[in-house]
Amino acid sequence: QSTVPLPGKTRVFTVSNQKGGVGKTTTTVNVAAALAKSGARVLVIDLDPQGNASTALGVDHHAEIPSIYDVLIDDFPLADVVQKSPEFDTLYCAPSTIHLAGAEIELVSQVAREHRLRTALEQFIGEAEEPYHYVFIDCPPSLGLLTINAFVAAQEVLIPIQAEYYALEGLSQLLNSIQLIQKHLNPTLRLSTILLTMYDGRTNLAHQVADDVREHFPKEVLKTLIPRAVRISEAPSFGQTVISHDPSGVGAISYLEAAAEIATRYAQQNKTAPSTEGAT
Ligand code: ADP
Ligand code: MG
Repeated sequence: QSTVPLPGKTRVFTVSNQKGGVGKTTTTVNVAAALAKSGARVLVIDLDPQGNASTALGVDHHAEIPSIYDVLIDDFPLADVVQKSPEFDTLYCAPSTIHLAGAEIELVSQVAREHRLRTALEQFIGEAEEPYHYVFIDCPPSLGLLTINAFVAAQEVLIPIQAEYYALEGLSQLLNSIQLIQKHLNPTLRLSTILLTMYDGRTNLAHQVADDVREHFPKEVLKTLIPRAVRISEAPSFGQTVISHDPSGVGAISYLEAAAEIATRYAQQNKTAPSTEGAT
């Protein structure tokens, strides 16, 4: 039973922004948890050697754990490294470990080096006993081979934008990269979603950034804004997302709203998607 419309096929998102500290990981784990809480089956792929998404999802990722590194470099099936998150029954994570730090270099000499994640993910989705509705790939803050693997594996790009900077200036490099990927490696990739995060409505700059982004990307920006909130930033130190750390707080509510928008917009664009059975 789900409170959001579920897509008829797996939607694969890469959460990207070559800037660090803009809310990629926070957005990945909280949108994923929000969708899982709403009844969707969700996989998070932690593609950042820092492993922050694995930590936030309460998933074991010390050096000995089979991880996304083994999938990319040693051809492990993705199913062999995926763990269930303790948070929700339908939330899963392919963790990253410290070994992934070397993968950026090791991938260079591999066959089909840009397609390794895509191939593994296609096999995983094809063989899964129950269908996955969403996959979110948390990217490192660079445009190296790990991020390229994510772009090739995904259909949709979700860009979190920190509403505290002149964020648009840094965005052109990312948009260029997306265009290059579309041209050479993955023609179906599209920028579908922009989410404004760390929003502080008391500052003029936040309003200005939000207005600018909405003007440039009217279709992509979600109506929901993620506020700056202490509960959001403290949740990972409890090995939790804010969705279970502070379920009735503004952080959880805003991420649940963002997730609902992501689900609903898509269902409206693809009228053939199944209806919301048990919707409230
Ligand atoms: P990235 O993955 O892009 O490097 P993070 O998601 O790790 O960015 O966020 C950077 C920092 O900002 C982290 O310490 C995180 O806890 C904090 N943060 C992210 N979103 C919020 C928010 N809405 N309110 C408060 N702190 C936030
Ligand atoms: Mg991160």
